[in-house]
Amino acid sequence: NNRVTGTLDTLIIGGGQAGLALGHYLKEQNRTFLILDAHPRTGDAWRQRWDSLRVFTPAKYDGLPGMPFPADPLSFPGKDDVAGYLEGYAARFDLPVLNGVRIEHLWRDGNRFVAASNGRRWEAHNVVVATGCSQAPNTPDFAAELNAAVVQFHSSEYRNLGQLQEGPVLVVGLGNSGAEIGLEVSRTHPTVVAGNPGGEIPVKHGRAAARYFLPVVRFVGLHVLTLSNPIGRKAAPSFKAHAAPLIRTKSKDLAAAGVRLVPRVAGVENGLPVLADGTRLEVSNVIWCTGFRDDFGWMDPEMLDGGALPRQRRGVALDTPGLFFLGQEFMYAAASATLPGACRDARYLAGRIPVPVTRESASAA
Ligand code: FAD
Repeated sequence: NNRVTGTLDTLIIGGGQAGLALGHYLKEQNRTFLILDAHPRTGDAWRQRWDSLRVFTPAKYDGLPGMPFPADPLSFPGKDDVAGYLEGYAARFDLPVLNGVRIEHLWRDGNRFVAASNGRRWEAHNVVVATGCSQAPNTPDFAAELNAAVVQFHSSEYRNLGQLQEGPVLVVGLGNSGAEIGLEVSRTHPTVVAGNPGGEIPVKHGRAAARYFLPVVRFVGLHVLTLSNPIGRKAAPSFKAHAAPLIRTKSKDLAAAGVRLVPRVAGVENGLPVLADGTRLEVSNVIWCTGFRDDFGWMDPEMLDGGALPRQRRGVALDTPGLFFLGQEFMYAAASATLPGACRDARYLAGRIPVPVTRESASAA
């Protein structure tokens, strides 16, 4: 069922949880659609994260529409469990996913969209961009000035301790990735974590939290902090600008493990990282847990705000009819880029993607 020819009703670019959840709803509506994904295998975005990663959302909230996550509802599945679940989901609902296709250009031609990859083209009346919010690793420019003897990589390339050389490790960034990776590397290496935490969730993460506390967080993330109300509108810019509060690994866990916590790294001097007060960090390894930036450079800039960012409300592009976005940070709610949030936003979009009026449907009417 991947052999769709002619102009598609809807093309979904990106077959992670967001694209698959939307695919499920479109399938229910008997729509003609295709999901294209750059990775060779469904679930790879999760599979390629670090080996010990467990989700912070309990399994009871990790399922996509129509298929509960097959695990103890209060447990926190590993990243490969999520990857396997997504692959099984696409197979179970026979979703038309074509893997190994990275769309390099997307533009409008009359009232249709054309997406191109490596000499191949797809045409569609509607396009949904569900390419995730962890596309382009963000590292400061001064990373290039580090001494070549220092092993350095971004958190998106971190898998396990085997990638490190002997000697101290600097983890740059104190968001959830920085805290969790910092704790892990401190088991074998003297570790410094640099950064200012964007707050901490004041509850121990675990089964009790999954039962009593995380349902409240989920409710707030889905229904309170939304762009439909003033509290959410006020919170949105700071959510996007700052690291999320620490959820599982807190500053006190790092301190207890012997991790040295220091302020932000200000630059590089003589090949080594330095803090704002001039302290030089004599480290052998640097892991940049400095987040991701948006990358819509493959889309026609006319479809984007200032040629760079989606111009949308709740995922519906404001001035390009037929164009939609899904899975972006705070696209509608604080939880929009999480498993439960993307599924809720997918259901909303599925009700708004217009059924194209084709010659056949017009003559049938
Ligand atoms: P992705 O999973 O990134 O999928 C996007 C897909 O689009 C990819 O498969 C990619 O190959 C494809 N793609 C991109 N560009 C193109 C292109 N040009 N052409 C074709 N295909 C393209 N959320 C939770 O709910 N719970 C958690 O515990 C949790 N933990 C997280 C931990 C980490 C370290 C990170 C980074 C995120 C975490 N998230 C978590 C947030 C979120 O759920 C994930 O980032 C999730 O993978 C996002 O799903 P998505 O479908 O929007 O994007």
